[in-house]
Amino acid sequence: MSVLVILEQRGGEWNRMSFETLAAAQQFAKELGTTATAAVLGSGIEGLAGELTSKQLDKIFAVDHELLKNYTPDAYTPALRQLVDHVKPQVVVFPHTYQVRDFLPKLATSLNKVAISDVVGHRVDNGQLVLVRQLFQGKVNADVRFAGDAPHFASLQAGAYRADLAAEGSAAVEKFTPQLSASEIRTKPLDLFRESARAVDLGAAEIIVSVGRGIKESDNIPLIQQLADALGAELAASRPICDAGWLPMERQVGSSGQTVAPKMYMAVGISGAIQHLVGMKGSRTIVAINKDANAPIFEVADYGIVGDLFQVVPELIEAVKKAK
Ligand SMILES: Cc1cc2nc3c(=O)[nH]c(=O)nc-3n(C[C@H](O)[C@H](O)[C@H](O)COP(=O)(O)OP(=O)(O)OC[C@H]3O[C@@H](n4cnc5c(N)ncnc54)[C@H](O)[C@@H]3O)c2cc1C
Repeated sequence: MSVLVILEQRGGEWNRMSFETLAAAQQFAKELGTTATAAVLGSGIEGLAGELTSKQLDKIFAVDHELLKNYTPDAYTPALRQLVDHVKPQVVVFPHTYQVRDFLPKLATSLNKVAISDVVGHRVDNGQLVLVRQLFQGKVNADVRFAGDAPHFASLQAGAYRADLAAEGSAAVEKFTPQLSASEIRTKPLDLFRESARAVDLGAAEIIVSVGRGIKESDNIPLIQQLADALGAELAASRPICDAGWLPMERQVGSSGQTVAPKMYMAVGISGAIQHLVGMKGSRTIVAINKDANAPIFEVADYGIVGDLFQVVPELIEAVKKAK
């Protein structure tokens, strides 16, 4: 009985969430008194799997087959079923990526199991793993326990665990060749959609002023731009602002946008949904302006101003200009 972590690669490049999930799997294993085993799927990926040999793992499976070269749920599901059957883990953890969201329900259901998705934390209670998921846009944390026999499946939200805490050690790579047949695969992958090159590098910004739905309409965005200019900051936004086309997608912070860690992150009219928090909670100092004193953003803020941004921001711009 062990913890099995399935890491994600595409075209020979790791998904950065893989290492957060690896670190989480090691923590689960330590607290459950067992060991962690890792696996990566693809074609000709023994070299990539070899990059994990310096990690504290029981073993690394390179699940290799030419039909796993491009991702399809029809190939990944039987390949993982066979691996799970071989390893017999207690818990199987995945990064909560778009790809995992696509095939994990199919995999779990095919074994008559449920998958606990979008996990943001855990604890071990009487030797049993308790996972934490957020409900109602992050307003409530729910404890979830697995019922029935192993294996149990879970996917972990981006930013919930720290990749730099992955423990070092040594492990060997073992090739695992699943039995797959081309006739099982009903989808034909096309070329991946690629975004155009980014004009803004939020990751390099020392100060970020980020605007959310509290701004009400696009005509009010220049107010926040003025604040950003006064502070010498880059302007960023929560997803609804970018979805509405008020600011370009490249300025979106969060699980489906950029991850940033500036010296100061100022969130203006942003509630602090988990998908936003995972993209900015590593910032050194977080300042929040929100008229709702119970907004979740205040839980991660170092400085909070409870007030109407249309009053606070103009005064702040004046104060910053004076201080300069
Ligand atoms: C798969 C998935 C991926 C996602 N990815 C992202 C992502 O990458 N980034 C992201 O940001 N979101 C993402 N989301 C959306 C996320 O769940 C939230 O819906 C979103 O972050 C909310 O944006 P918001 O805080 O701007 O808006 P709201 O939640 O509507 O909050 C607006 C806030 O403004 C405050 N406010 C209103 N008026 C004023 C005023 N006059 N003065 C001061 N404060 C005021 C309110 O009190 C409220 O707290 C994702 C969701 C899903 C399902």
